[in-house]
Amino acid sequence: MLETPTPSGAPGEARDDSQEAPFGPPQAAELLGALRETFDSGRTRSLAWRLGQLEALEAFVQEREDELCEALRSDLGKSRFEAWLGELGVLRAELRHTRKHLPEWLRPERVPVPLPLQPGRAEVVREPLGVVLIIAPWNYPVQLALAPLVGALAAGNCAVVKPSEIAPASSALLAEWLPRYLDPDAVRVVEGGVPETQALLAQRWDHVFYTGNGRVGRIVMKAAAEHLTPVTLELGGKSPCFVLADADLRTAARRIAWGKFFNAGQTCVAPDYLLVDRAVEQPLLDALGEAIHRFYGEQPRQSPDYARIVSERHFDRLVGLLEGSGQVVFGGEHDRGERYIAPTVLREVPEGAPVMQEEIFGPILPVLTFSDLSEAIDRVRRGDKPLALYVFGRAPEAVDRVLSETSSGGACVNDVVVHLSVPELPFGGVGESGMGAYHGRASFETFSHRRSVLRKGTRLDPPLRYPPY
Ligand code: NAD
Repeated sequence: MLETPTPSGAPGEARDDSQEAPFGPPQAAELLGALRETFDSGRTRSLAWRLGQLEALEAFVQEREDELCEALRSDLGKSRFEAWLGELGVLRAELRHTRKHLPEWLRPERVPVPLPLQPGRAEVVREPLGVVLIIAPWNYPVQLALAPLVGALAAGNCAVVKPSEIAPASSALLAEWLPRYLDPDAVRVVEGGVPETQALLAQRWDHVFYTGNGRVGRIVMKAAAEHLTPVTLELGGKSPCFVLADADLRTAARRIAWGKFFNAGQTCVAPDYLLVDRAVEQPLLDALGEAIHRFYGEQPRQSPDYARIVSERHFDRLVGLLEGSGQVVFGGEHDRGERYIAPTVLREVPEGAPVMQEEIFGPILPVLTFSDLSEAIDRVRRGDKPLALYVFGRAPEAVDRVLSETSSGGACVNDVVVHLSVPELPFGGVGESGMGAYHGRASFETFSHRRSVLRKGTRLDPPLRYPPY
């Protein structure tokens, strides 16, 4: 087995960069070569190997739950419940679903053969792509590294996982433990930041799966284009949430507050801002205040259920967004030492406010109002296509109008975020929010090639197609 130099040591160990070889393009090429050898041996193709790897991954998530929760607490102040609900539980459900359905997904798909080509048998066969690269972000650092891996393994690929350096405890844990559970000749973890990722990106992979922001998404796609490597880009954006006048406001407020302040707003599908019918702005604000109070108490800072901002850089960015972004209705308090920002709700947000210029990705919720639904729909259509779009309302006509006149990666009516947990709904963006999708069968398809195979016999060979015509 090839030893991969990684820029960091085991969890808890002090880093000593002087003793570690840098991970550059030669190391990346060597690593890829070793994995390609494993892939070429053919052993990752069998159903038994694939199921074995998925079972081992499930064992890892189950047996290392304590360590994983501790790493997530250290990186993001994540509560155990949020760690389970947003990361480990999602993974286990994905693993169970995939193991259960994989034999059926792998079955060749028979298609009809046109009369002139008969007798013959035509089928679509799913084959693995080869060796794939998975680049993960920091906000759900375990789930977003491993959920794509579920698809990659189910499809019979070898894989390199590059966790985010911005969630160092989770990254170190994956690097330490994954090789002990999974086939170490087929799955490798490379830790590191920009130079390491770029060294990896310079290689010829069979697929690159990137989750993160659009700026880096462009870097990934350019690097992949050099080798004509297909990419999946799971990006973000400003996901709007409509609240129509006939919505059940109490439930809407609870669900919105939950989805927005879960993981302190650092969720790619969190409702970024609200578009509320002016007639119900005040009662909705009251209900939001009540929900926040019930969830996190008088002092959210003391709540064990409220996460922290991942880094000082992101903390400074978020605090900067508050300037000139309207009236603070709730929250607004922050503490750099703790990387704490209170659950914050803004109203009277001016046109051009900083908070409306970029994806917030933190616990700040601007509440915008409209008096005519067309205005609100236009506003969404003028922006980039978001990763998610939410509508709270009772009348199906208005809800359907919002859905049919807008576009987004996914959508959810009368709830937020939870559409991700339906295993057979492909999860992915459109336009600026990304390309490609995964989860459930979509993951398996993303990491498989649909190979068309026509089998013919030789008994009948009518001379019709042969010259002279
Ligand atoms: P990040 O900074 O952790 O970056 C993601 C990965 O890119 C990391 O592994 C990092 O090492 C690598 N990277 C960073 N800069 C690079 C460079 N110049 N060259 C090569 N690699 C580089 O994550 P982030 O982008 O801050 O994550 C937040 C964004 O991700 C938000 O926009 C959010 O909406 C989006 N997101 C999307 C999803 C989704 O599933 N669609 C999920 C989570 C987050």
